[in-house]
Amino acid sequence: MAEQYDFVIIGNSAAGLQAIRTLRKHDQLSTIAIIDREDRPAYSRVLTPYYIGGHILREGLNIVDHSFYQEWGITPVFGHSVVSIDPEKHSLQLSDGRKISFKKLLIATGAEARTLPIATQRACVLRHMDDAEKLVDLFQNLKSVTAVGAGLVSLPLLSHASDQAEKHLVVGSNRIFSRVVDAETSAILEDQLQAKGLNIHKQNDITEMVEAEQLQLSLASGKQLSSDLLIVGKGVNPNTHLATEAGVEVADGILINTNCRSNHPDVYAAGDAAEGLDFITGETTIQGNWMTAVEQGENAALNMMGIECHYQGSLKNNITEIFGIEVAAVGYCQDDVAEIITSWNAATGRFRRVFLDEKQRVVGANMIGETNDAGLYYQLISTRSIFPGKQMLTGTANYAQTLFRLE
Ligand SMILES: Cc1cc2nc3c(=O)[nH]c(=O)nc-3n(C[C@H](O)[C@H](O)[C@H](O)COP(=O)(O)OP(=O)(O)OC[C@H]3O[C@@H](n4cnc5c(N)ncnc54)[C@H](O)[C@@H]3O)c2cc1C
Repeated sequence: MAEQYDFVIIGNSAAGLQAIRTLRKHDQLSTIAIIDREDRPAYSRVLTPYYIGGHILREGLNIVDHSFYQEWGITPVFGHSVVSIDPEKHSLQLSDGRKISFKKLLIATGAEARTLPIATQRACVLRHMDDAEKLVDLFQNLKSVTAVGAGLVSLPLLSHASDQAEKHLVVGSNRIFSRVVDAETSAILEDQLQAKGLNIHKQNDITEMVEAEQLQLSLASGKQLSSDLLIVGKGVNPNTHLATEAGVEVADGILINTNCRSNHPDVYAAGDAAEGLDFITGETTIQGNWMTAVEQGENAALNMMGIECHYQGSLKNNITEIFGIEVAAVGYCQDDVAEIITSWNAATGRFRRVFLDEKQRVVGANMIGETNDAGLYYQLISTRSIFPGKQMLTGTANYAQTLFRLE
């Protein structure tokens, strides 16, 4: 006999957690289960590099604790994988053979880090807590560390490795962060990172690796590197296989409409596993950030309850600190916009680059040096606001007044 719930969520992270919070906020009576193969309360993947670097304790990663689920009247089913879904029968099966039935299902299964076809204990990806624990050990006594792929995993991890370690970054592209910032922003950031001791090997790849006392890495350029650890940060693959096998429509991610619903009326998807509209380009994309997962989780939950709600589309939203430098990229930040306005103070290191469309509306912003106005740019972009003026770039504007005037 299957356990029965009104709402079932697969994935206890950004999207799934926001979904259960939203469901409970509006509905205290329905039965809700959240399933995750990881046997722990929800934690922040975003903060794992800080844990690995010894800046925060493991408990500091937790977003909620075990009591949260009980207090909110949610049934946690942790430590079990979902192995199949039958949307027509409204049921799914767990790895231990148990069956769970649902009226509405949210697939918030996220993504997996891409690995390299290599067999060594000294190469590691970072996606889950188990990876983080492995990296805590690998970070001990590092003399040299190399990362391949320049994104939100490699750079924060390199920056948290010991100051004494030699640090190398191998990038396939001709610049770092090419997916989220424009070429000029990349160039300024690269200069700052190199000044902090990072060796950047662009338009390059690792062609061969030999295990010796240290890993011997051969680069496509012909250069040889010796490293104690190889961090693999080559992007992610969305967890879509359950959906595909269930006959739910999948492109790169699970295709969702503006209700975060799949092509099946009772199956929804959100977060890194889902492919929905980009707010600026209007194209479907997997945004791959925490904020999008939260927004889609909330939107899905509202629609699962029958509260009709349209998600206006997701934005790129990356805010991080690398080598002591704050960096943020919000929205669409590429050279092909109608106008770009730049403010750069070499003395303070404060850099702002704002991207405008043909109607002078803000569509994107890159920030280096300090990022405390990233939320303001997020709001300007998501409300399709006209750029309020250059005083905003130099930090001289009264932000509260700026916002007030725009509303
Ligand atoms: C090191 C690192 C740094 C990052 N930094 C940033 C940052 O600075 N800013 C930012 O916005 N984003 C960042 N991200 C990305 C961000 O963490 C993700 O966008 C976000 O976690 C997506 O949330 P999600 O709920 O969609 O999926 P996930 O967080 O991937 O969670 C999916 C959950 O589903 C579970 N699951 C999957 N398949 C099954 C199954 N078959 N059965 C049961 N459970 C299953 C998994 O165990 C997992 O717990 C970072 C990610 C990493 C790894």
